[in-house]
Amino acid sequence: MTDDKPRLISERELGMDRAIPRRDFLNGAAMAIGSAILPGGPRQAGVASGVEPQDRPGYNPPVATGLRGSHPGSFEIAHSLRDGMFWKTASTPQRLAEKFDLVVVGGGISGLAAAHFYREKAGSSAKILILENHDDFGGHARRNEFHLGGKLQLLNGGTMLMDSPTPYSAVAARLMEKLGVDPVALDKKCTDHGFYHALGLGPGVFFDRETFGADCLLKSPGSREGENTNANRDQDSSAASWRKFLQRAPLTDAARRDILRIETQDTDYMPGLFSAEKKDRLSRMSYKDFLLHVVKADAGAVAFYQTRTNGEWGVGIDAEPALDCWALGLPGFQGLKLDPGAAPHMSYSAAGYANGGSDRFHFPDGNASIARLLMRDLVPAAVPGNSVEDVVTANVDYARLDSPNYGVRIRLNSTVVRVRTVSNADGNWEQAGEVEVTYASGTEVFSVRAGACVLACWNMAIPYLCPELPEKQKQALHYLVKVPLVYTSVGLRNWTAFQKLGVSNVYCPGAFWNSVNLNWPVNIGDYRSPRSPEEPILVHLSRTPCKPGLPAREQHRAGRMELLATEFRTFERQIRDQLARMLAAGGFDPALDVEAITVNRWPHGYGYEYNPLFDPDWAEGQAPHIIGRQKFGRIAIANSDSGATAYTDVAIDQAHRAISELLSG
Ligand SMILES: Cc1cc2nc3c(=O)[nH]c(=O)nc-3n(C[C@H](O)[C@H](O)[C@H](O)COP(=O)(O)OP(=O)(O)OC[C@H]3O[C@@H](n4cnc5c(N)ncnc54)[C@H](O)[C@@H]3O)c2cc1C
Repeated sequence: MTDDKPRLISERELGMDRAIPRRDFLNGAAMAIGSAILPGGPRQAGVASGVEPQDRPGYNPPVATGLRGSHPGSFEIAHSLRDGMFWKTASTPQRLAEKFDLVVVGGGISGLAAAHFYREKAGSSAKILILENHDDFGGHARRNEFHLGGKLQLLNGGTMLMDSPTPYSAVAARLMEKLGVDPVALDKKCTDHGFYHALGLGPGVFFDRETFGADCLLKSPGSREGENTNANRDQDSSAASWRKFLQRAPLTDAARRDILRIETQDTDYMPGLFSAEKKDRLSRMSYKDFLLHVVKADAGAVAFYQTRTNGEWGVGIDAEPALDCWALGLPGFQGLKLDPGAAPHMSYSAAGYANGGSDRFHFPDGNASIARLLMRDLVPAAVPGNSVEDVVTANVDYARLDSPNYGVRIRLNSTVVRVRTVSNADGNWEQAGEVEVTYASGTEVFSVRAGACVLACWNMAIPYLCPELPEKQKQALHYLVKVPLVYTSVGLRNWTAFQKLGVSNVYCPGAFWNSVNLNWPVNIGDYRSPRSPEEPILVHLSRTPCKPGLPAREQHRAGRMELLATEFRTFERQIRDQLARMLAAGGFDPALDVEAITVNRWPHGYGYEYNPLFDPDWAEGQAPHIIGRQKFGRIAIANSDSGATAYTDVAIDQAHRAISELLSG
């Protein structure tokens, strides 16, 4: 499986000239995807007239391929607002006659949950409008839908699964129960955990020639599925299996020796210290420094581990505390005999995982199914069916999402540009009872009025929407820098190459795509995942664009710039090239085998979590997310950012807090 003579694969061999349906692929059906940069339909004065893109026949964003996530058309208005350009060219807002009890900015899980909690408390007659800048609802909980070989296949375009560092709070657990989601029961019934293993497939590592000198795919010892629980460590981590793996890896003898030591030996690298003292020291050094200076590992061994933390935190081991990596289940700590459980000075995720984490379940489209269940709860007519299982295959009727016939409306392709409390006659906003929310859709600008507003959008957007906020609050909202990520779904004609090579999930420590995984084997309701390697399948590739060596927030900013400057063609080339180099020995042909590509680009991905290496230990009440989320008149703030982390349960908890703040006065 080693190719010692690098040969560049031509564009033609890669299939770059192939007419795969790249952009807005319709899967055989006509679909009118709306774009926020295209003019919207005409509206009657004062009324949203029902000719929005989402009302057009066949509108079904999950089937669109090409560049998705924060797709072209979704962010330009927000960026022009940030750059001070929007109001210079915007048309005068048309005041719509519609009046709502609540307007929610952001149609992610937090925004949908906020609408749910508001109705729960204020009554089902409450009138709620949700405004969302993307062409689909769910926020990061985005569904990618394909019809490969005529059969429905699903993947998550963002939020992957119910999996959190802490058990779901009473509030979030109650909402899940109400929606019919029992992760333990669903996982038991629907996930075929042993499926790939039974076919002889398991984890692999792809060494790329740019980093390691030669392209080489190897089956690897152990299991990285569910790496964030110590319980899931390796079934086959014997020294013998590591030796066998390392002998064939394109690594120096020193790197091989040290990886073997890190993975299999029980050395106490911090003798004479108590567990608490070791944990304290480990919380103040990066995992990279731990490997280099405490374990005294060779730099070649460190390169092998460099991107093991990228999926969890969006940065490599240079920017993650060693103690957090211990909690994530990374090796090298066996001999330290650390006491189980969290310690002071850990990140939210690591501390939670050290204490056990939450129940886990992956719907075929990730937590998009949770967003669809919430949507069904809010606008039942739009999401047919009545069970947690049938929601996976339900056809959402987008035309019903923004209908005057229902109490809750969600208006897509609508970027909010201003939120302000309407002054009373004395110009005193504190006393006023109305909020005016202004949004842009295409080239038109509208304003609506409501009794209150929840900003369930991203923290860093809020100061531009509400410039009247106190300066300290705006600075706090700017502090958190969201983590950029790319989740790509690739439709393959078959997966025989994976089968021949014996791999189902591949870690790629130096390559463009950090991991390449066959789709989850989940069967739920009428949905069936592929069983035979001859069948088409979806493959999930992930990339975290970061710049090792910089502080974490700087890495996220640099990664975001890179993402926004990367064209679809570049992503496509990297997909074909990496799959070809990884899977050539299994007979993979990038020109013939790639059937569809959806690149979910999230320049503003995970909510930022404080990193003990770079962020201070904030005094009680002084952390930026606490200062940033203060209610401002009739405007409250939700979203997972306001919980300073990136999890669905937190997005729900924050929605609940925001609604409670609004309804308690
Ligand atoms: C790639 C990826 C994978 C993830 N995987 C997991 C996972 O496995 N498990 C997990 O628990 N969490 C995961 N997360 C974290 C995820 O962010 C949360 O779980 C949750 O979905 C966040 O919901 P939210 O509503 O708070 O934010 P979002 O989903 O970000 O929703 C906020 C919405 O507000 C919109 N918005 C912003 N500004 C405006 C504006 N001016 N006008 C209108 N709308 C606006 C945004 O476009 C967005 O759609 C993942 C995140 C990403 C990016």
